[in-house]
Amino acid sequence: MASPLKVKTSPLSSALAQFDEAADRLGLDPGIRAVLRVPKRELTVNFPVEMDDGRVQVFSGYRVQHSVARGPAKGGIRYHPEVDLDEVRALAMWMTWKCAVVRLPFGGAKGGVVCRPRLMSQRELERMTRRYATEISVLMGPDSDIPAPDLNTGPQTMAWIMDTYSMHHGYSIPAVVTGKPLSIGGSEGRLEATGRGVVYCIEQAAAHLGLPLAGARVVVQGFGNVGEPTARLLHGLGARIVAVSEEAGGVYNPDGLNPAELLRYKQEMGSVVGAPRTRPLSNEEVLEVDCDILVPAAVASVITERNAARIKARIVAEGANGPTTPGGDRVLNERGVFVVPDILCNAGGVTVSYFEWVQDRDAFFWTADEINARLQRIMVTAFEDVVHFSEQHGVSLRVGATMLGMSRVAEATVTRGIYP
Ligand code: NAD
Repeated sequence: MASPLKVKTSPLSSALAQFDEAADRLGLDPGIRAVLRVPKRELTVNFPVEMDDGRVQVFSGYRVQHSVARGPAKGGIRYHPEVDLDEVRALAMWMTWKCAVVRLPFGGAKGGVVCRPRLMSQRELERMTRRYATEISVLMGPDSDIPAPDLNTGPQTMAWIMDTYSMHHGYSIPAVVTGKPLSIGGSEGRLEATGRGVVYCIEQAAAHLGLPLAGARVVVQGFGNVGEPTARLLHGLGARIVAVSEEAGGVYNPDGLNPAELLRYKQEMGSVVGAPRTRPLSNEEVLEVDCDILVPAAVASVITERNAARIKARIVAEGANGPTTPGGDRVLNERGVFVVPDILCNAGGVTVSYFEWVQDRDAFFWTADEINARLQRIMVTAFEDVVHFSEQHGVSLRVGATMLGMSRVAEATVTRGIYP
C-alpha cells in the first residue's frame, strides 16, 4: 500500500513488517491504517554545545510522536552514536502499541541524540541534555509529551531535563519527565520496573510451559537499566544466571553467576568482562549458550535469521526493544520457542513511569509495595490478555500483542473521529 515511509533498514523495517501483518489480520480500515502507519509528528534538531576544551560541537537529536490518540505521547530518550530518525520512528510506534497493550492512557513517542556518551564528561552531558531539552520543549510537556530514560540515559539525565523545563516556566514541573531520582518526584520502584516486569512475564511464561523457575538456566544480554535488575530478581527466585553480556563482551559460568557481585565488579571496572570465576564469551556466543531462558536486554536486531536456529532457550523474553528481526522471529516460531514480545515484556518501565506521572500530578506518593503490587497486576493481566487474544486468532504472541494494541489505538482513533 502507498505510504510515505518505505525503507529497507531495521528496526523501522521490522516495525512496519509487524504493523502490516497485524493490520492485515485485523482487516483494519484503509484510512485508519494509513493514519497509524506513520508518525503523527517528527522533530529534528541540530544544536551547538560548548565542550570542556572550549570547542563548539553540533549535535543532532530527534523527537517523534507516533500517536496521541489514547493520551499524551510517552517514550524514552536514548543517547547513541548510531541513533537516527528511522530508529526513533520505529521505537515511537512500538511505544504506541506497548502503552495500549498495558492499557495506559498514553500514546507513543521516542527521542534520541547522536552522541558518544562514554567519551563525554558529566558537564558536557549536562550541557547537551539541557540544550536538547530546550530544543524539544516545543513538543514536551506534562500534558503533551513525557520523556523517560532509555539507552545511556538515566535518573540524572531526567533530573536535568525536568530542571531545564521547570526553569523555563519559573516553577517546578516534575510530571514533565519520568524516571527521575526520588528526591525530585521520582517513583519508588521505577529504577528496576522494566526488569521487574520482564520477570513477571517470565514467571507467567514458565508457568504456561510447566518450566520450574528454580534452577532454570538464564542468559541475559545487557547489564544496564533492564538487564541488571532482571538478572538480580531471577537469581532471587532461584534461577541460575549462566551468562551475562555487555557491549564489551560476555561472561559465562555454567554453575551460576551472582548478579550482585557482577554489579559491584562493573561499578569498579566499568564492565562485567573479567569478573572473577567467569569465562569470557563473545556477544554472538552469549546468545547461543545452552539455557532455558534468554533475555535480550541490550540493543535491537540481535536475533536474526542467521543465528535464530542456534538459540537453545525455550523462552525468549524481550527486555530490549526490537531485539528480534522478522526473519529471526520466523525461525524461533517455527522451532516452537516461546517468545514474549518486547511490547508486552518490557512494558513494566512505562507502567511505573505512568505511576510516577500520576503521583507527580497528585503530589501524593505510594509505597514500593503498592507500586510493585499494581505493576504485577497490570503485567499479569496484559500477559493473559495477549495469550488469550493470540490463541483466539491463531497467531504468535508478537502478532497477537501488536494486533491487540493496534485495535485499541484504532478504536480510540475512530471514536475521536477525523478532525475537522
Ligand atoms: P542501558 O544503557 O542502561 O544498558 C544497556 C546495556 O546493554 C549495557 O550493559 C551495555 O553494555 C549493553 N550493550 C550495549 N550494546 C551491546 C551489544 N552490542 N551487545 C551486548 N550488550 C550490549 O540501557 P537500558 O535502559 O537497559 O535499555 C536496554 C534496552 O531495553 C533498550 O533496547 C531499551 O530501548 C529497552 N528498554 C529500556 C527501558 C528502560 O526502562 N530503561 C524500558 C523498556 C525498554
